[in-house]
Amino acid sequence: MTSTTGTVCPHCGWPDGAEPYQVVSRHTTAAGSTVWTRCACGSLQVRMADARGMRVVSRSRPTGTPAHSHGR
Ligand SMILES: [Zn+2]
Repeated sequence: MTSTTGTVCPHCGWPDGAEPYQVVSRHTTAAGSTVWTRCACGSLQVRMADARGMRVVSRSRPTGTPAHSHGR
């Protein structure tokens, strides 16, 4: 276990260290920037990017807004 980004999405296994599946919005803060991303499973993530890198600080459940809806 030498990786510093060993966290993956508990819902679909998407690595947090990989490129975000979809960037929803990006906000610049005093400490760096906050990036809202949506995972491949539909889970909304909040990532904090600062001088130390980007990390996931909050993660929602994949349910809610289905990425690929099947009811339209
Ligand atoms: Zn996921």
